[in-house]
Amino acid sequence: MVAENILKLKQEISQKAELVIVSKTRTLQEITEAYNTGHKLFAENRVQNLLERYEALPKDIAWHIIGHLQTNKVKFIAPFIGLIQSVDSLKLLEEINKQAEKCNRKINCLLQIYIAQEDTKFGLSETECMDLLHSFEFQTMQNIQVVGLMGMASNTNDTAIVQSEFEGLKSFFQTVKTEINLPNFNILSMGMSGDYHLAIECGSNMVRVGSKIFE
Ligand SMILES: *Cc1c(COP(=O)(O)O)cnc(C)c1O
Repeated sequence: MVAENILKLKQEISQKAELVIVSKTRTLQEITEAYNTGHKLFAENRVQNLLERYEALPKDIAWHIIGHLQTNKVKFIAPFIGLIQSVDSLKLLEEINKQAEKCNRKINCLLQIYIAQEDTKFGLSETECMDLLHSFEFQTMQNIQVVGLMGMASNTNDTAIVQSEFEGLKSFFQTVKTEINLPNFNILSMGMSGDYHLAIECGSNMVRVGSKIFE
């Protein structure tokens, strides 16, 4: 089932977006089943679970973190994390930079932008994002690279709302790309099980899908 779902999904989104399989809440066995299809890109939303899985599973998996990240946990994932999709403050970015330096590496990050109408979601406003990118602190960081933006739309069946949120993020992505000189600023991560079609239509090039694969 898992293998079929992955194949189907990859055919659907082919060329247009990269698939990140969200493995949170799944068993090691389920993740292994997905891995055995040849897929190597997985995401977790909690550091503790990520560490357990990183230890237990093959080392050629590229792990992303997609949940709110506390500064005091950055050090645990800094040695191996492939992409931190949920950067929502300058303070967090500074800590990532510091820990990356200790590991002698550069860590790729997405800035998470708040686009939903709910107030339960983390993320920066567009203004906060611009302020961060223009700050002296940001410009002097050597061990992080901001390679794009991530956003989560409102959890609603009203596709008009979801569409306008995705379009808004796409347009902001273009603004950042034009106004700020960031090498490799190319990733627009939006879309989950319920809304990845729409997200891709609105310009997403990275989707984060969990339940649709493991259902
Ligand atoms: C859980 C989660 C997903 C995947 O959600 P599904 O609906 O299971 O596809 C994507 N992005 C984030 C940030 C998540 O927390």
